[in-house]
Amino acid sequence: MKKLIVASNNQGKIKEIKEILKSFDLEILSLKEAEIKVDIVEDGETFMDNAYKKAYEIYKLTGEMVLSDDSGLMVDALNGAPGVFSARFAGEHGNDKKNNKKLLKLLKGKKNEDRKAKFVAAMVLIVNGNNTIKVQGEAKGYIIEDERGNNGFGYDPLFFIPELNKTFAELDGREKNSISHRGKALELLKDKLKKL
Ligand code: IMP
Repeated sequence: MKKLIVASNNQGKIKEIKEILKSFDLEILSLKEAEIKVDIVEDGETFMDNAYKKAYEIYKLTGEMVLSDDSGLMVDALNGAPGVFSARFAGEHGNDKKNNKKLLKLLKGKKNEDRKAKFVAAMVLIVNGNNTIKVQGEAKGYIIEDERGNNGFGYDPLFFIPELNKTFAELDGREKNSISHRGKALELLKDKLKKL
């Protein structure tokens, strides 16, 4: 079976990727499972730059198929911020509470269309030295004024989908995957993989 190394140790992401790509004959491994320890600086200007950098570094190390993703939130009224800084918006990497607090502070007093936002997920699959697949998925919504829901992570409790009258944190995993930026990017990737 061909190996596919996912450039992440995030169990939630790995589970989602395994579920969506289960029809392919692939042994899907996290970095930990592949026994790879690397510290890659995510200093790109776009999600795609970062995803490519991660995938390429690991491909160089292993020569195996590598899938990497980078994602984040972009708010219209903040000129696309937090963007590639989503994980460390308030300074400390991965502090969701502080990040959400900062976001609410910056949007204080803003109404309706000024609270428009989107989640973006860029994914890069390096199949071999001659074949690289790049896809990007987006999910559109609004930043509400108070957190709602207990599921998910990151900005999910603030990210509201009017059509569902729910935030991402009020959806279960399957519901979120069906409309999320990452779910959409993975579906695009699946279509491209079928054509390989
Ligand atoms: P990364 O792609 O794992 O580096 O994610 C970057 C950051 O974007 C996360 O730490 C979150 O703050 C935010 N983010 C990305 N995807 C989501 C999501 O599905 N829900 C909530 N926050 C997200």
